[in-house]
Order: sequence, then structure tokens, then C-alpha cells
Amino acid sequence: MNECIFCEIIAKRMPADFVYEDDEIVAFKDINPQAPVHILVVPRKHYPTLLDIKPEDAELMGKLILVANEVAKKFNIHNRGFRLVFNCNREAGQSIYHVHPHLLGGRIMMWPPG
Ligand code: AMP
Ligand code: ZN
Repeated sequence: MNECIFCEIIAKRMPADFVYEDDEIVAFKDINPQAPVHILVVPRKHYPTLLDIKPEDAELMGKLILVANEVAKKFNIHNRGFRLVFNCNREAGQSIYHVHPHLLGGRIMMWPPG
């Protein structure tokens, strides 16, 4: 068993509620949703944090945004508005060390964030 929960989910050794899958990226519902729509958009490749992203990963990181847009449309939050958030390291509250943006929507978001 891999020690990374998201690698386990991607390998289908742990369950998740998938809403999108392709050969590079998956998206599934957050187990502890912070908004009516709370989806995690996850590259299949394991990067612990944003700081591990290299120039050659730029295209894949851009695709995370394209997938997030598709998922936002699928859940019909695209016109109302949504938030796409990466947490990086401890003070930002990162708890799973496999890079992933959170797609949040379905309610009014506050700014500045907590
Ligand atoms: P972060 O704190 O930015 O690293 O985000 C990790 C997110 O993963 C949190 O919002 C958790 O609720 C979520 N999470 C943890 N375990 C699971 C799981 N097994 N399935 C789906 N989401 C999970
Ligand atoms: Zn991983």
C-alpha cells in the first residue's frame, strides 16, 4: 500500500466518488465538503507540494484548470462563480501531500479566506 491516500484512490485501491477521469487527471468529491460543491482535481502523477512543480509540468498544471472548468460546468456553478484553491504546506492547511486544487462552489465565498 502506498502511503499517499490520493495515489491509493487513483489506483482504485481506496474508494472515492469520481466525477472526472482521463489519462492524466482525476477529480473526485471531497470527503469533508466545505461547500455544496467541493471537488478535488488531482494529477495522477504524485507531486508532494506545489514547490515540486517543474517547468516541464506546466502543461499538466494548466490542464488542471481546464478540467476544473469542465467540472464546474458539469455541476452548473460556472456562471454563479467558483473558487479554485491550492494549499501549500503547513500554514496553508495542506493535509494531503499530493498536489491538488480544491474546486469550491454553490455558495457565496468570503474574502479574505480564513
Ligand atoms: P488539503 O488539506 O488541501 O491537503 O486537502 C485535502 C483534502 O482531502 C481535504 O479537504 C480532505 O477533506 C480531503 N480528503 C481526505 N481524505 C479523503 C478521501 N479519502 N477522499 C476524498 N477526500 C479526502
Ligand atoms: Zn500521491
